Amino acid sequence: MRGTMLYAPFDIRFQELPDPVILEPTDAIIRTVATCVCGSDLWSYRGITPFTEPHPMGHEYVGVVEEIGADVTGIQPGQFVIGSFATSDNTCPNCRNGAQSRCIHGNFMSTCQATSIRIPLADGTLVPTPDQPSPGLIPSLLTLSDVMGTGWYAAVAAQVVRGGTAVVVGDGAVGLCGVLAARELGASRIIAMSRHEARQKLALEFGATDIVSERGDDGVEAVRELTKGIGADSVLECVGTAESMKQAVRCTRAGGSLGYVGVPHGVELNGEQLFRALIGVRGGPAPVRRFLPDLITRVLEGRINPGKVFDMTLPLDQVAEAYAAMDQRRAIKVLLQP
Ligand SMILES: [Zn+2]
Repeated sequence: MRGTMLYAPFDIRFQELPDPVILEPTDAIIRTVATCVCGSDLWSYRGITPFTEPHPMGHEYVGVVEEIGADVTGIQPGQFVIGSFATSDNTCPNCRNGAQSRCIHGNFMSTCQATSIRIPLADGTLVPTPDQPSPGLIPSLLTLSDVMGTGWYAAVAAQVVRGGTAVVVGDGAVGLCGVLAARELGASRIIAMSRHEARQKLALEFGATDIVSERGDDGVEAVRELTKGIGADSVLECVGTAESMKQAVRCTRAGGSLGYVGVPHGVELNGEQLFRALIGVRGGPAPVRRFLPDLITRVLEGRINPGKVFDMTLPLDQVAEAYAAMDQRRAIKVLLQP
């Protein structure tokens, strides 16, 4: 098969690699139908997350099952499947509590920008669609593997409720999906913080009612003005920097909730500030698997179209260009087709 390796910062190569094989009886092998580059892939691409050895890349995927291990019972070869970026047996105590991204037996996918993928814990990790989806639905189904599931979790963690106010910090694919999730969960006012025109446009299309392009004190002030001077009921933090986290805490009203899903880099919460803020805080890698059945239904019924976050499509062998385009902000998110 062929797959993506990161050799050094900014050195992405698409190359011949050994075919994946069934290693555990609970594994499945899928043929990749579509994969993509995640904003979080850029941390190691840019060398901000240090690494020493060349390693494979990618954790978002949809595909067709080619082979299953002896213990796999819920998945059949030939089925179209979607899985989370985190593998899970879906049966351990953490999974049963809805924290599948902390499955006791789970792990994180990291080999998905490739023509085929080994999926551990296939029965728990993968969800098949009832039929082969039409090509037009593939981008939206692909987003469920991470960004849409993560945006959804951000909204759930921030306790978005019908009629409530929500602020989304971050206009990357996850933030935009967070806007869509807040709309689906019934927020009546959704404030997207964005300073990029194309992203503002998509945020409005996904259900944002207001755009705030200011940051820092001015951004907080603008949010307060839109929320009766007190801040929002729910704030979705979808970046992971110290600045965005600070922004998110300050935009949450007293008694409100903050959901944070941006992978933290240099984020430190000040205990005293947090204490005084009187807010609920919940975050972490999204338990995407928990939301997959519901989100698949929403996509198949045409209620949501999160695939619009892909503003560039490339053949998988041009994956290096996909990274460059996202790094240089020429693209929000790039879909890759084998
Ligand atoms: Zn588990």
